[in-house]
Amino acid sequence: MKIISDPQEIQALCRGLRFSGVTTALVPTMGFLHDGHKSLLLAAKNRAEKVILSIFVNPTQFGPGEDLEAYPRDFNRDVKIAEEVGVDIVFAPKPEAMYGPDHATWVEAPELAKELCGASRPTHFRGVCTVVLKLFNLCMPTFALFGEKDWQQLAIIKAMTRDLNLPVQVEGCPIVREPDGLALSSRNSYLTQSERQQAPHIFKGLKLVQKLARNGEHDPRQLKKAVEEYWQEHLPLGEIDYLEFVNPVKIERVDAVQGETLVAVAMRLGKARLIDNLLIRS
Ligand code: AMP
Repeated sequence: MKIISDPQEIQALCRGLRFSGVTTALVPTMGFLHDGHKSLLLAAKNRAEKVILSIFVNPTQFGPGEDLEAYPRDFNRDVKIAEEVGVDIVFAPKPEAMYGPDHATWVEAPELAKELCGASRPTHFRGVCTVVLKLFNLCMPTFALFGEKDWQQLAIIKAMTRDLNLPVQVEGCPIVREPDGLALSSRNSYLTQSERQQAPHIFKGLKLVQKLARNGEHDPRQLKKAVEEYWQEHLPLGEIDYLEFVNPVKIERVDAVQGETLVAVAMRLGKARLIDNLLIRS
C-alpha cells in the first residue's frame, strides 16, 4: 500500500493509472475510520482494480466555531484498517498542500444546498464541492463512492459531476448502523455514556415517521410534532438542529409526505452534531 501526502505525486501516479487503462475507485474521507467507511472501501474494491482512500479533514467545510480542531484523528489506526481492507493508495495531504495562501476559487451547488445542512452550515457545501473537485482532479478516479449517510452531500456531488461533465462515476452506498440503529459516525466518539444510550432514538424517531406515514399521516407538521414529542421523552439530552421532509433528489421541502420522501435530521447531542436520514415510501 502506498501512502502519499504530496498532491503532485498522487496526480502523477493516478495519471499513469488512468492512461494505462487501470480502473480506480476513490473513497474520500476525513479519517478516524469506522465500519461505514469500510463498507465504502469494500464496495470500491468490487468496483475497480485499484482503491484510493483519501484522508483529509478539510478545513474549508467547517464553519467558524465548529469542531475542526477537535475532530477525531488517528492516522496510524486508519492506515492499519486501510491495509486490512486492501486499499492500494492512501492519499493524506496537509491542509497547506491542498490550499495555497492565494486559494480563491470555489465550487458551489446552491440550489441543492438551500435546506438541511446547507441551511444550518452556510459555507459547508462550498468547501465540500471544492475539495471533492480537487480530489477528483488529483486522483482522476473512474469511480467515486460516497455514503448515503450524507444524503445531501451525495446529491450535490452527483449534480456537480453532471453539471461540470466530470469524467467520474459517482455512486452512493447504504448507511451502516450500530446494532441498536445509531448511524456510524466519527463524531460518535464525542458522546458520553448517557448521550450514547439515548442516541439510537435519533433513528427510532425517523422510523416512527415511516410508520405514521405508512398508516396514512402525510402532513409534515403532524409528523414533526409526533417525532418531537417522541424525542422529548426518549432523547432529552438531544437538541434538534433540523428535522425536515424533502424530495430526495431536489432536496426541497415537501407539502405532503407521500411517495418517496427523505426524512433528514441533524441533532446536537452534547459536543456532537449528528445527522441521519431515512428514505420513506408511503
Ligand atoms: P466522513 O469521513 O465522515 O467525511 O465520511 C466519509 C464518507 O463515508 C462519506 O461519503 C460518508 O457519507 C461516508 N459515511 C460516513 N458514515 C457512514 C455510515 N455510517 N454508513 C455509510 N457511509 C458512511
